[in-house]
Amino acid sequence: MFDLSMMVAQSARQFPQKTALISGQQQWTYAELDAAITTVANRLRAQGLAPGQAVGLQLKNTPSFVITYYGVLRAGLVVVPFNPLAVEREVEHILAVAECRAAVVGEATAATIRAAAAGIEDFLLVVDSDPATESPPLEKGELNFAELLAPGPDTAEAPEPGRRADDDAVIIFTSGTTGRPKGAALSHFNLWMSCTTLNTRSNPTSDEIVLGCLPLFHVFGMSGILNIAMAWGVTLVLMRKPEAEGILDLVETHEVTRFSAVPTMLSDIVSAGAGGRDLSTVRRVTSGGSALRLELISQFEEIFPNAALLEGYGASETTSSICVNQSRQQRKIGSVGTPSWGTRMRITDKDGTVLPAGEDHIGELQVTGPTIFNGYVGDCEATEASFAGDWFRTGDLARIDEDGYVFIVGRLKELIIRAGYNVYPSEVEQTLQGHSGISQAVVVGLHDDRVGQEIAAVVVPHPGTTVTEDEIKDYARAQLSAYKCPRIVKVAGQLPHSTTGKVLRREVLNSFFS
Ligand code: ATP
Repeated sequence: MFDLSMMVAQSARQFPQKTALISGQQQWTYAELDAAITTVANRLRAQGLAPGQAVGLQLKNTPSFVITYYGVLRAGLVVVPFNPLAVEREVEHILAVAECRAAVVGEATAATIRAAAAGIEDFLLVVDSDPATESPPLEKGELNFAELLAPGPDTAEAPEPGRRADDDAVIIFTSGTTGRPKGAALSHFNLWMSCTTLNTRSNPTSDEIVLGCLPLFHVFGMSGILNIAMAWGVTLVLMRKPEAEGILDLVETHEVTRFSAVPTMLSDIVSAGAGGRDLSTVRRVTSGGSALRLELISQFEEIFPNAALLEGYGASETTSSICVNQSRQQRKIGSVGTPSWGTRMRITDKDGTVLPAGEDHIGELQVTGPTIFNGYVGDCEATEASFAGDWFRTGDLARIDEDGYVFIVGRLKELIIRAGYNVYPSEVEQTLQGHSGISQAVVVGLHDDRVGQEIAAVVVPHPGTTVTEDEIKDYARAQLSAYKCPRIVKVAGQLPHSTTGKVLRREVLNSFFS
């Protein structure tokens, strides 16, 4: 029997009085956090929920998220985190696919969940009310989160979770960048291995202060930040609404030593600038989730004088990062580093033939190892299609160099084939972003009767800068082979992004080219 929340119990035994969580004015020690997790686990089981059943979790980065997440796991239930911004139709999809029997949600979204769960029999809704505001009344059968947290003689001992290491622990929904979000089932073992395999080379010390600015409902924040911080037994500073000035303030106030972010956040931080703050405590920052603009690395490291900005790579299905640059000395700029312990990677062509290492051998990245998910819930077909034997087909195009460093070139689905030539949007985007007037660029393929797909770009200038379409086309022609150059260029004020900072290409196509 094994459940992931045991790692919090272990940290509580080792460092009972150490601050585990800081959230605004609130602080929780490891002993307090562990006791609250046990209480919630018992209260959920007392509601009739049985091991293996799924519980939705829709909260911002708050202590109640952390307590519920591990409480659900300690009760042997399966946790299904999802975005607080999800609308009713999306929530309905998630609750149905994951077969949720209950959900713990914020007050602001309770009405949406109530409506989305209307068709589910005996659904238990738990609402985390804000003590500072007058809460709307709960409906019959619903619980207030405070009731789950109230300790009693019946909540002192953890219940028997009744789960095995390879049982599903979390169903995490993919970002939906390429289609409708899919529910990837991660086991306790996957999640535990994700903490340990990354631990082996990133040399944490027990006095680390980690900033949780990534959303915890996404795999990068959930596994790459929350689980790792709790496994190390370090202090995690939670941030509800990640914005650049707030991140910089929290770094200085709490003397943060590490954090992870998506490139959009890093770009916002660079634009905001240090503003006289002391940011010298930060030693390591990891970027992932989408491609990092290379100029950002030196710009970022100018603001954080002692930090290395290191790029990594992962997906929901791989339990977050499976590849990362280890240190400033060992990194290769433009690469996402080398595979983490126990993970194997290979590149295959479209017929599935394994390609050798080298610059010219771009193909699909396939991976296998201890953090690869159990499958998509309720979708055997998608699960089958995403594996080649034991190898998970990431759907990403990559190459691996002779030293084993992995370079992500783009997504298979986004590859543009123009007049028979392969054009990788990320290469064109990186090039356009090298123009001094451009802060962001996205490149897409448009249907064209003559050449199959035509290359189109949308660029966003730096604030206060003007660029013209012709200037961008000329710049591209000077930097790229003719077949890679965008023939259509649009200048825009901003691009549509997901809450995890990814450019939504389908929306780019609809908004700019339909
Ligand atoms: P969906 O599967 O629903 O389309 P998604 O693939 O965006 O959504 P996630 O699991 O959130 O879902 O993201 C994983 C993907 O993010 C990877 O497959 C890869 O395409 C991209 N990615 C992650 N890290 C990097 C990186 N460092 N550079 C480029 N792309 C990255």
